[in-house]
Amino acid sequence: MGGAEIEFINEAFETNWISPAGPNIEYFEKALSDYTGVPHVAALSSGTAALHLALIQLGVKPGEEVVCQSFTFAASANPIAYMGAIPVFVDSERITWNMDPELLEEAIRDRIAKNKRPAAIIYVHLYGMPALIDQIRQVAEQFEIPLIEDAAEALGAKYKGVPAGNFGDLSFFSFNGNKIITTSGGGALLSNHRPYVEEAKFLATQARDPAPHYQHSRIGYNYRLSNISAGIGRGQMMVIEDRVAARRKIYDRYLENLGQSGHIEFLPEPDGHFSNRWLSCILLPDQQQRDHIIKILASQNVECRPLWKPMHLQPVFSKALFYSTGVSEDLFTRGLCLPSGSDMDIKVQERIINIILSNL
Ligand SMILES: *Cc1c(COP(=O)(O)O)cnc(C)c1O
Repeated sequence: MGGAEIEFINEAFETNWISPAGPNIEYFEKALSDYTGVPHVAALSSGTAALHLALIQLGVKPGEEVVCQSFTFAASANPIAYMGAIPVFVDSERITWNMDPELLEEAIRDRIAKNKRPAAIIYVHLYGMPALIDQIRQVAEQFEIPLIEDAAEALGAKYKGVPAGNFGDLSFFSFNGNKIITTSGGGALLSNHRPYVEEAKFLATQARDPAPHYQHSRIGYNYRLSNISAGIGRGQMMVIEDRVAARRKIYDRYLENLGQSGHIEFLPEPDGHFSNRWLSCILLPDQQQRDHIIKILASQNVECRPLWKPMHLQPVFSKALFYSTGVSEDLFTRGLCLPSGSDMDIKVQERIINIILSNL
């Protein structure tokens, strides 16, 4: 925590705004809007809820197909199933590890040829690294398919100087406990298109019609963020730049110390891409060496995990369509997320680096 969070929580207690409405929510939404430059923001109970509402706003129907990046966390794809829609997974490129725009175009052409025009595209800035945004948007525009930007891991990242959150018809962040800033659990939906966000707020509060009694003309959800959690978010927004700087410094230190070993690959920033370096990720030469490093680190009480397991390899999506470059499977086989917490001590990081260097 940055320090101010507790004051905003106390304020909520003192003014008795213990509810999914209240001033902290408005301040938090304004802080997100000011930070990203996106005019309309809805604070919600999770990033998953934000994506679910985004798909509803786009009018995705049961049985329709939605294209989704395969190399991601399951929450990027689960809401497709909530809609009764069908995920079509697209593999990654090697430059940013995100959705391959050429393969996206190929996939869309193929789906259209089979009379299965996709209803939406979900792409991700995984680990805080912006995707090949211009190319992805160009494909989406060419086929006039709405684009959802999963910026759950990318608050503080920029593309050509513009903050993540600006690169979809609808975009969303997550403030889950593991993300770069947190509200313990929470998310936000953003758009330049006011009706998307206004209607999402309406649906997120059980779609209650304006009437003195409780009246409902549509099925609603209970997806608003609490005023207490928003107080945490309000405080966290005061330190987001410090958090990004801290994560980037951690990445730089890993790169400086491990980059010359000749055995470890990093993910450099292409021109115009500014990553928040949410997690520092590396690639080992093969799975055996990757697993060896995980085991050695675990024996020294250091927890490390492989990169996200691609959706097309998940048992729950085993029957889903998948357009492949082979990249995400390679990343999953050889990749490792290193400890990256913003508050990690230099001494701790040096210890981790030394363990890795002496076991390559
Ligand atoms: C965390 C995350 C989400 C979902 O956010 P929650 O707030 O946990 O629901 C979606 N996509 C990606 C890529 C994530 O990392």
